[in-house]
Amino acid sequence: MRVCNLGSGSRGNATYIESESAKVLVDCGLSANQVEIRLKLIGVNPQEIDAIFITHEHSDHINGLKQFVKKFGTKIFMHYLNVEAVLEKQEVDYNKIICFKLEEFLFKDIIVTPFELSHDSVYCVGYSFNFCGQRVSIATDTGYMPSKAIEVMMYSDVVFIESNHNELLLLKNESYTAYLKKRILSNKGHLSNLDCADVIFKLAQGGTSQFVLSHISDKNNTQDVAFSDVKERLSSLGIEEGKDVFIDVAYQDKVGTMFEIRNKDSLVENY
Ligand SMILES: [Zn+2]
Ligand SMILES: [Zn+2]
Repeated sequence: MRVCNLGSGSRGNATYIESESAKVLVDCGLSANQVEIRLKLIGVNPQEIDAIFITHEHSDHINGLKQFVKKFGTKIFMHYLNVEAVLEKQEVDYNKIICFKLEEFLFKDIIVTPFELSHDSVYCVGYSFNFCGQRVSIATDTGYMPSKAIEVMMYSDVVFIESNHNELLLLKNESYTAYLKKRILSNKGHLSNLDCADVIFKLAQGGTSQFVLSHISDKNNTQDVAFSDVKERLSSLGIEEGKDVFIDVAYQDKVGTMFEIRNKDSLVENY
C-alpha cells in the first residue's frame, strides 16, 4: 500500500492512497488543476484514480471536485447525509455519487471503514483503509477525537491526524474574532496540537508508529510548532519521537512524504 498527502490545510486537502488494484483520493479540496499536477509529480496518472472519498462538504475538501470528476469521470463516495450539501456547492453528476452508511464496505481490494467525527459541517467522517492487513487512517476536521474513531484507527500503519492549532497562538491571534476562536476551540471545531498528541499517545499503545500531522493552520500554527508541541507532549507521556513513534508533517503548498507499507512491520519511506 502507498499513501501520500497532496496538500493539507484550510486552503485545500487531498490525499492519495494506492493498493494493489485501487488508486483513490480522500477529498479533492485543492483545485482540480493542482490535484492533477501533484498526482503527476508522484507519478500517478489522474485518469487512473478509481474513486474520491469525501470527508465532508466544506470547500477546502471539495473545491476541485466538480472539475476533476467532469474531466476524469471519477466515482465519488460520501456519507448519505453529505450528498445534498456537497451538491449545493459542487454540481457534480449525480450518477457518479455512491452513498454509504456508517459501516465498512469493500471497494476493489480495500476494506473501507468510515467513522464519525465531530465538526461543524452537516456531517463529517474519517476513513480507515485496509488492504491485506495493511492499514492507513485519516482523521481531520474534528473538535475532539471520538472514542469510536480511535477504536477504528487502532493498529493502523500510518495515521494522518489533524494538528490544527497551538491554543496560545490561536487565543493571541488578533485577526480572529472571539466567535471564530470559540468555533475552532469547540467540540465541533478543529483538533489542537496537544489534543492531537493525546490521540497519538492512545494509538501508539496499539502499535502505530507513523503519524502525519495534518490540516495545520497557517495562522495559528506552523509545521515546526506543531511538531515540537506534539513531540514535547508525547515525551511527557513517556513516548519518544524518533524511537517509539515517528512524526511527519503535511504541507499546504507541496506534496508530502510518500509512505510505502510493505507488510505489518516494515514501513518504508520513499521520498
Ligand atoms: Zn471542515
Ligand atoms: Zn478542513
